[in-house]
Amino acid sequence: MDSVSGEAESARPLRVFFIPFFATGHMIPLVDIARLFAARGVHSTVLLTPANAALVQPTVDRAAAAGLPLRTLLYTFPSSAAGLPPGVENISALPPSDSHKINFAALLTRPDHDRLLRLHRPDAVVADIHFHWTTAIARDLGVPRLSFHALGLFPVFVMNALFRHLPHLAVSSDDDPFLVPDLPHPVHMVRRELPDFLRGDSPISATMDGVSEGESGSLGVVVNSFAEIESAYADLYFKIDRMRSWFVGPVALASADSGDLAARGGNDPAAAANRERCLSWLGTKKPNSVVYVCFGSWSHFSGEQLKEMALGLELAGHPFVWVVREAAGEGWMPEGFERRLEGRGLVIRGWAPQVAVLGHGAVGGFMTHCGWNSVLEGLSAGLPMATWPLSTEQFMNEKLVVEVLRTGVRAAEGARRGTAAEEQGLVGAAEIGAAVGRIIGGGVDAGGMRRRAREYGKMAREAVKEGGSSYKGLTDLIEEIRAWPKRGSGEVA
Ligand code: UDP
Repeated sequence: MDSVSGEAESARPLRVFFIPFFATGHMIPLVDIARLFAARGVHSTVLLTPANAALVQPTVDRAAAAGLPLRTLLYTFPSSAAGLPPGVENISALPPSDSHKINFAALLTRPDHDRLLRLHRPDAVVADIHFHWTTAIARDLGVPRLSFHALGLFPVFVMNALFRHLPHLAVSSDDDPFLVPDLPHPVHMVRRELPDFLRGDSPISATMDGVSEGESGSLGVVVNSFAEIESAYADLYFKIDRMRSWFVGPVALASADSGDLAARGGNDPAAAANRERCLSWLGTKKPNSVVYVCFGSWSHFSGEQLKEMALGLELAGHPFVWVVREAAGEGWMPEGFERRLEGRGLVIRGWAPQVAVLGHGAVGGFMTHCGWNSVLEGLSAGLPMATWPLSTEQFMNEKLVVEVLRTGVRAAEGARRGTAAEEQGLVGAAEIGAAVGRIIGGGVDAGGMRRRAREYGKMAREAVKEGGSSYKGLTDLIEEIRAWPKRGSGEVA
């Protein structure tokens, strides 16, 4: 079909393609966004490689069974060219030393994206920031490309401001504080806290020019966040970076029922067993008494650090759910730890149902690595957080939580902190225990922190309700795509 009349065009359902990056923390929210589009009647297709599709298929299947126009479309992961074994297609499946292989594999996917987008000719493409070439393909097809960072606008704006002014290169050491420019309030950082691509050469430095070209040619960015916490940065992002943005989150709140929550992020039977165990265990605990401790889908700790963490949780004296990802043996576990703490502490190995746990009434605080999704999920649940950033932009997210929103405390204040694993100092049990006490127990500002956290939780839930700011953000974005001048000029798949 070469063109359709205006009337027929507006009657035809909008078709949008979503292309998530090969990291769980990028895939989960972009699939949630695709589902939100589908819930508004947009025919939504998520382009995935087979092993990554398996992680989100339960979510997609549930949505499709409920009648939502959501589907996946597969393309091949370039395993052998990237030097990866078959079936290893996600950063979470690799030790940190090999994660660059996933970035390299991502660079090889351009021909598949090109082929599939030209074949199906969607009305818009929402692609992860890594897949910057989708801007040029979309331009060729005469349709808009939207970018997805899997981050809030605060860290995005901070990174852009640092690239623009380079204050971190003007200080004489990795530990000298500098002021982040262009923000409406003072935020200081040290070089050690920055992502590796801002500190010097990293495997992704070479792609930065392509990324910024892909960004500037995009219609704008789709953001898993909400205006009530980040509208000031959206204004600055538009004024200074000339980028438009649409808030549509927190998208985890779109996981409407317990079945949706159970389907999030895994098809593994062990994850289902963990879910049952976690929730029934939490059911035995008093309201707001439990700290949930989890560091995302791909963080790693040394055995020595895990041991301190175990001792710190024991010392704190509060009930806890602790998610331990490390597969490499358990020699670090203190002698008799689980037996001693039976009934007070639950250690989950592998995947926990994080959003369901955070939303459980027994949970009163969250110790987190400050991955963007975790920050947002903690805020949505109205919980105070103990922050322990480890890599990428997580120190920026910590600044937002601790200094701007003031709903958290630093868990790892005393030890040397930084984004490079070899630079990080050991955080001792006493410090970890004290941080748990500050968010779960009393403390100088515990009341104020808890009250603010609850208020942000309420705002987050309001934002995604019909008429809320993010609900409206999605309406505006869909209208913008619908009104795109060349819509309808392609073939319908
Ligand atoms: N997550 C989960 N269970 C786990 C670990 C992680 O459900 O055991 C989810 C978590 O809810 C979040 C995502 O995985 O949605 C992790 O994203 P985040 O940005 O917090 O961290 P990353 O994994 O990207 O470092």
